[in-house]
Amino acid sequence: MPRTPLIAANWKMNPAPEGAFAADSPYRPQSGIETMVFPTFFDLQPCLEAGLPTGAQYGHPDSVGAHTGDVSMTMIKKAGCPFVLCGHSERRRDHHEEDSDVVAQAEAALRNGLHPVICVGETESERRTKRHKQVVERQVRVLPLREVVTIAYEPVWAIGTGVTPTPEQAEDMHAFIRSLIPEARRESTRILYGGSLTAENALEFFQQPDIDGGLVGGASLKPAVFREIVLAAVQARS
Ligand code: PEP
Repeated sequence: MPRTPLIAANWKMNPAPEGAFAADSPYRPQSGIETMVFPTFFDLQPCLEAGLPTGAQYGHPDSVGAHTGDVSMTMIKKAGCPFVLCGHSERRRDHHEEDSDVVAQAEAALRNGLHPVICVGETESERRTKRHKQVVERQVRVLPLREVVTIAYEPVWAIGTGVTPTPEQAEDMHAFIRSLIPEARRESTRILYGGSLTAENALEFFQQPDIDGGLVGGASLKPAVFREIVLAAVQARS
């Protein structure tokens, strides 16, 4: 069965874009393409009420407890939210999340019936010193890949920089990541590309056989641009 492309919007610490909740919102799924939005915690409920496929940007693995400022996977599930991001590089950077934290989040998400979208990717110096595959392998091997999860390959040096790998370099990493997934899930697990996707470059990435859509940051805050990126996914599969 071919994998349904997924285009996910990571709005980071920004308000939901104007028009996001409208009937013709580009953040709604369309023509064989799944979409997903990752708003701030404040915008989770409005997104859910508007019927958008919605995920939290983070969830604490413990259900309850002394973790000031955090919200748990259990609470996210209870709020009616089906998805959660785990291990985004900005969380790894700003909150010192390690691989073991990301695994704990992904496992807690699954325990609570949430679908985790798990981010992996190397830094610029890891790519420059040709350790990118080693690093990504380390990040991927520990993940609960026998379960239904989505992986997002996001080279850290491509996030918000306007610099991207070539589509062929991204495909090389995606195929490598797929080879690390246990056989039973290898062909069905979606692997998204993330890092400076735009309306101009999206099609080339989505045409690669192991790139199953995108995790879009900056460009996802502009509804018209996000619509173009979704259309690129439609075009790539036609
Ligand atoms: C992201 O934050 O996941 C991301 C890919 O950001 P950008 O598209 O802005 O590079």
